[in-house]
Amino acid sequence: TPLLEVTDLVRHYALPRERLFGTPPMVKALNGVSFSVRPGRSLGIVGESGSGKSTIARLVMALDKPTSGVIRLLGEDLHALPKDALRKARRNFQMVFQDPYGSLDPRQTVERIVAEPLEALGETTRAQQRELAGESLVAVGLRLADLHKYPHEFSGGQRQRIAIARALITRPKLIVADEPVSALDVSVQAQVLNLMQDLQQQYGISYLLISHDLAVVNHLCDEVCVLHRGLVVERGEPQHLFAHA
Ligand code: ADP
Ligand code: ADP
Repeated sequence: TPLLEVTDLVRHYALPRERLFGTPPMVKALNGVSFSVRPGRSLGIVGESGSGKSTIARLVMALDKPTSGVIRLLGEDLHALPKDALRKARRNFQMVFQDPYGSLDPRQTVERIVAEPLEALGETTRAQQRELAGESLVAVGLRLADLHKYPHEFSGGQRQRIAIARALITRPKLIVADEPVSALDVSVQAQVLNLMQDLQQQYGISYLLISHDLAVVNHLCDEVCVLHRGLVVERGEPQHLFAHA
C-alpha cells in the first residue's frame, strides 16, 4: 500500500461575507487532485502562489476537511478515522512548516518543543521524552546542551533543524514539508536540504515536499506534480520537468 494516496481531492472555500447577495462565490482551491507517495519515495508539489499547495498540506495533515475526495494514510481513510485512531496515525506522519520562528513556541524550551508530538501521543514519561528529544536533536546536527535553550537563541537554519527534530521524534514514515527552506538564506537552504536528504537515506523517510521552487524539489524528490489553479497540470521526474522549464 502507498504511504499516502490522494484521490480526486476537491476543496472549495465559501466566502461568508458575500452570503447576503445570493449564492456565495466559491474559491476553488482544489479541483480534483490525485497523487500517491509510495514507501521510500518522495513527491514534490510545485506551483505558483495561490495554486492550492498549502491547502493540500492542511488536508493531508487533517487540519482541514475536503469538500470531496479521499485521503488514505497507509490505506486508512484519514477523514473517516475516529479521533483516537487519528492521533495514533499521526505518529507516522509529521509536518515541517515554512516559518521556523512562527511554528516554534518562544516560551518553551527546545526540549519541550521537540518532545511535543510524543507528549501528544501520551505514551511516554518526561524522562523518556527528554532522552528521545536529545537523540532527535543530535540526528539533525544540534547538541544535547541545546535542549535547555529557547528558540530565539538560534539562527533561522538552526530553528528549522529544531522543527525537523520535532518531526523526527516519532520516527515518522512521511514528513509533509510546506516550503521548508523558503524563509532561509540560499546558503543555509542547501544545508537544510542536505540534512533532509541524509534523513531520507538514513531512515527511509518519505517527503511530501511543497515548494514554489523546482530546484528545491529536485534536491529531494523522484517525482513532481505541477499544480495550477487547483489542478495537476503536469507530472514526472523533476529533471525531466526542468528540461521543459
Ligand atoms: P498556495 O499554497 O499554492 O499559495 P493556497 O492553498 O494557500 O495556495 O490557496 C489556494 C487558493 O485558495 C487561493 O486562491 C487562496 O486565496 C484560497 N484560500 C486558501 N485558504 C482559504 C480560506 N481559508 N478561505 C478562503 N480562501 C482560501
Ligand atoms: P533503533 O534504535 O530502533 O534500533 P536504528 O538502529 O535504525 O533504530 O537507529 C539507531 C539510532 O538512530 C537510534 O538510537 C536513534 O537515535 C536514531 N534514529 C533512528 N531512527 C530515527 C528517526 N526516524 N528519527 C530520529 N532518530 C532516529
